[in-house]
Parts: sequence; C-alpha cells; structure tokens
Amino acid sequence: MTTQPGVYGYSAVLMGSPILLKLFDSNPSLARQVFQLIKQQENLFTVNRADSAVMAINQAAGQRAVVVSEPVFELIRVAHAVSLLPDSAFNLTIGPVVKRWKIGFQGRTVPPAEEISALLRLTDPHQVVLDADARSVMLRQPGMEIDLGAIAKGYIADVVQAFLRQQGVTQALINLGGNVQTLGAPPHEPAGWQIGLKTPFASDDALLGVLQVKEKSVVTSGIYERYFLQDERCWHHIFDPRTGYPLDNELLSVTVIADRSLDGDIYTTLLYGMGVARGLAYVASRADLDVIFVTRDRQIVCSAPRHFRFQQQDFSWRLRY
Ligand code: FAD
Ligand code: MG
Ligand code: MG
Repeated sequence: MTTQPGVYGYSAVLMGSPILLKLFDSNPSLARQVFQLIKQQENLFTVNRADSAVMAINQAAGQRAVVVSEPVFELIRVAHAVSLLPDSAFNLTIGPVVKRWKIGFQGRTVPPAEEISALLRLTDPHQVVLDADARSVMLRQPGMEIDLGAIAKGYIADVVQAFLRQQGVTQALINLGGNVQTLGAPPHEPAGWQIGLKTPFASDDALLGVLQVKEKSVVTSGIYERYFLQDERCWHHIFDPRTGYPLDNELLSVTVIADRSLDGDIYTTLLYGMGVARGLAYVASRADLDVIFVTRDRQIVCSAPRHFRFQQQDFSWRLRY
C-alpha cells in the first residue's frame, strides 16, 4: 500500500494496536519479516494470552522461580530497576490492578475501593526476585502479576530498528501505536521525519502540531488513547501505583524524544508521574531526552528542544518552552 509517491506503507494490527512501517523501496517481503518479528516479540511479552514467557512467571507466582531467555530477563531487569527508583510512577507489578480495571477491554468498570486496596498489596516491586546467574524471575506472593505494557512496545520498536539496520535499510519509520522509531531521514527531507502530535480527545485526526526528528524515537502516552467515562470522570489506563487509580494530575499526554524507544516508553510513564514542573527540571539534567507535556488547561509545554523541532498547528492551545 503506497501513501505518497516513493513511500511504501505497510500496516498490520498486532499487540492490539495499529502498526505502520514506512519504507522507500517496495519490499513486501521485508515488511512481512518485520511483522513476523513483532509477532514473535508479542508472544514473549503479552499478558493477554496464557502462553507467553511473562505469563509463565505470573502463573508461578507464590510458587517457584521461572527461568526465562536472556532478552526477557533483561527487559524485566530494566523494568524492575525503574520501578525501584525513588517516588517512581512506574511499577512492573501493576498487573493485578490493570487486569481488574480492564481499561481498553470488555467489562471495564470502576472497582470498589476495598478491592483496589486489596490488589495494591500485590503490587510491591520488592517482592520480585531476580537471579541473574540462573536467569530466573520469581514473584513472591500468589496473585502477583508482571505487566510490561508501559515498556514492551518501546523495546520492540528498538528491536525492529536494529533488524532493519542489519538488513541494510537506512531510511524507515516504524509506528507501533504511540511508539515511533526512525532510521535516518526520508529522502528529499533532510530536516527529518514529520510526526504528528494528536489533539487530545479529538474525534478526527486533528493535530496540535508536528514534530520533526532525525534518527530518533518519539513516544507518546496519553490518557485519551484508552479510557472510559463514568460518573463524569475519565478513567484511563496509566495508573498511579500509589493509589491503584488512574494518575490524576494536570496532564493529558507526555511525549518523549530519545534515541531509544525503550527510554521513551520508560520516561513517558516516569514523567507522567512527575508532572510539568518536576518533569521539566528533570529533563533539563538529561542531555539525551526531550519532552512535550500537553496539559488540561490547553498548554503545550516543551523542554529546550535539542533533538526535535515543533511546528504548532492548532493555535487555540498555548505553546511555551
Ligand atoms: P503506556 O503509557 O506506555 O503504558 C500504559 C500501559 O502500561 C497500561 O495499559 C498498562 O498495561 C501498563 N501500566 C499502567 N500503569 C502503569 C504503571 N504505573 N507502571 C507500569 N505500567 C503501567 N491491547 C489489546 O487491546 N489487545 C491485546 O491483545 C494487546 N496485546 C499486547 C501485547 C503486548 C506485548 C503489548 C506490549 C501490548 C499489548 N496491548 C494489547 C496493548 C496494551 O494493553 C497497552 O494498552 C499498551 O501496551 C499501552 O501502551 P501505550 O504505549 O499506549 O501506553
Ligand atoms: Mg508505551
Ligand atoms: Mg510507557
């Protein structure tokens, strides 16, 4: 399927998300290999089917340690380390809370408060035991569940980038639904890739503006992608691990620009928890990250843009740096 002259777009639905691969040579066989690779990765990390590597760990919770492959161990090790950072909004053991709320799935409801507090007792990342020598993972309490939904797409986007590079591709874009990773810049557009920043809750494809990046990943986490409305509130899928409820602050979305999509995915969640003021201060100390916050009071707040350019399109929102 070609979208523009000289651009070859290939799409699929994997991981419950629309996937788009853009190439500049017609190469359906390469596209098939990319989708196959994503499928293999999904089979390792999904918690939506019983037979993944992550589900093997979850099913053995409270009973025994499970030996996993090196890439699975490594991603869990990273997710665990991020979860143990001081005041972290990221928690790899958020699984029981995610499963109970079912946001984005059939049967979503606001659970009773007592149930949420009972489930929170199963979300202590200190109760994950990692043994690097044995490459094993053990969840100490029965009912605990690892959920890598906030990090796995980022990791997989980097796996695809590495695969394309290995195949000799120098210009490509992969979009895993919220996680964009790029190679080089498009031909005839040396300034880079154009990546749209969606208008929150817009019913069409309206954009707040367009980011321009080269050889960077752009990851967005927003409350408007998976949510439901009940009691005049928006219940979305980014949970506050301290309360078991959707994170409730001034934000509608966080976009991170970084080399690795893995970092983008990790930091969208961490910065979501930090909010605008603390988040901007944090990113100022990190030469490798840029961030765009979109707030409930209609502001687009950018860190000093080192790795991207932003062209505003919707001027009813206030842009500030
Ligand atoms: P992010 O903000 O990056 O992550 C939000 C997700 O992270 C939540 O959905 C939850 O899973 C988890 N999470 C929530 N709060 C926290 C927290 N505080 N700390 C850590 N993690 C948190 N969707 C389907 O509809 N059907 C599928 O079959 C399906 N299969 C998938 C398989 C894989 C391997 C992956 C990675 C995702 C799959 N998804 C599926 C999508 C998944 O359910 C999440 O919606 C998606 O991963 C969210 O990613 P995001 O980048 O939009 O949001
Ligand atoms: Mg993500
Ligand atoms: Mg994330």
